[in-house]
Amino acid sequence: MIPVTGYAGARVAVLGLGRSGLTAARALAAGGAVPLCWDDTEAARDAARDEGFVVADPRRDRALDDVAALIVSPGIPHLYPAPHPAVAAALAAGVPVDNDIGLFFRSVATADWNRFDTLPRVIAITGSNGKSTTAALTDHILRASGRPAQLAGNIGRGILDIEPPEEGGVVVLELSSYQTDLARALTPDVAVFTNLSPDHLDRHGGMGGYFAAKRRLFAEGGPDRAVIGVDETEGRYLAGQLAMGPGDDRVIRVSSGQKLTGPGWHVFARKGHLSEYRKARQVASIDLRPITGLPGAHNHQNACAAYAATRALGLAPRAIETAMHGFAGLPHRSQTIAEAGGVRFVNDSKATNVDSAAKALAAFTRIRWICGGLQKDGGLDGLRASAGSVLRAYVIGREAAQFAMQLTPETEVCTTMAQAVARAIADARPGDTVLLAPAAASFDQYDSFERRGEDFEAEVRRQLAL
Ligand code: ADP
Repeated sequence: MIPVTGYAGARVAVLGLGRSGLTAARALAAGGAVPLCWDDTEAARDAARDEGFVVADPRRDRALDDVAALIVSPGIPHLYPAPHPAVAAALAAGVPVDNDIGLFFRSVATADWNRFDTLPRVIAITGSNGKSTTAALTDHILRASGRPAQLAGNIGRGILDIEPPEEGGVVVLELSSYQTDLARALTPDVAVFTNLSPDHLDRHGGMGGYFAAKRRLFAEGGPDRAVIGVDETEGRYLAGQLAMGPGDDRVIRVSSGQKLTGPGWHVFARKGHLSEYRKARQVASIDLRPITGLPGAHNHQNACAAYAATRALGLAPRAIETAMHGFAGLPHRSQTIAEAGGVRFVNDSKATNVDSAAKALAAFTRIRWICGGLQKDGGLDGLRASAGSVLRAYVIGREAAQFAMQLTPETEVCTTMAQAVARAIADARPGDTVLLAPAAASFDQYDSFERRGEDFEAEVRRQLAL
């Protein structure tokens, strides 16, 4: 645990008592603060009370008097579409609003660090897609190279739950836009921006707000190194804004698909090969095609980002390559769950938005595509370019008929996962891939994308009697 510093003896309100909220309350208490906990659900309040925490509703009259800060969980709206009433009360009372990430960055460095020859480092990763894969891969490469690494944030442990980093230790932190938007301190040593495509727009007041939230990771004086995906205008803009000039190697530009030229530091993947260029000369190259845990161009982008982040910490190209071969990939992301009768079954339930689904479609051929669910803002037009390899779409979700109407391939309204899997299996021929890549959130039918992916896998196994 990282005890939170700076609040000893102070009252700090904690809103939202899920994993990150409860951990924040514990870490605040460990640092000598008095957490005042609140959650809108009674069960969560009871759990906090059972742990001995004071439970207090921040919306009560004068409840925020003498409160030093309000710590908000990422699932709770802090600005758009409208602030949660407790956040609104804090804003009205002038109480600083922060989150566990802000507390972490203020508290992680301790006097012990003065004794270290090699200081701990924090790598923070944000972007619309590929964060978890890039974070897990970065962590894997560091460990395989003998660096003590800890994976935290959205993936891995709650950020304040990790061990205080030891000599030479690296914290790899996956951050969502909700987290970067709210954190009052954001000072990683290496910051990574994977890519940008529309997502969570309701929570950010549109695309500009969404990009602004992610950009905060690069503000505040800036990280020592910024690894930036430059395949979208926003990434190119950010890289340009951070660099002092074209040769400034504080910025490492990353691309999937384009050869990057110029005097700066570049890492790009083309036709399955990763290349690193510095000062216009090639420094290293890796054949990514045999790395089974990283299929498709989107994963090659993640490989480039993780490569650049670990190079920024001084790892050698060959060590990184060897480590990548041992990376197993993450569940629910382009994960092959079964092969039967020449048909491959791939679970990419994590493809909850149009861009990630388009990337999954581009990674395979002859696809029987299971898609649909709770549609996000921005429409489905972004899927058109990748739909060429789809033989037929089997649409699930409560609004399956409406979803199907917006797709270009031949579609079949199936509504349930059981029906979609049955229909796809009935149609599949050897060489086909049955791919779950919904391009939608899961909440109309499932608690989470993980449950949806598990249901897909269970149906495949049941129906094929595997
Ligand atoms: P995040 O944590 O940002 O949601 P994940 O690594 O969990 O990212 O991947 C989320 C989804 O996006 C998965 O469906 C995955 O196949 C797809 N994906 C992974 N990397 C990328 C990328 N670089 N660009 C686009 N889509 C990607």
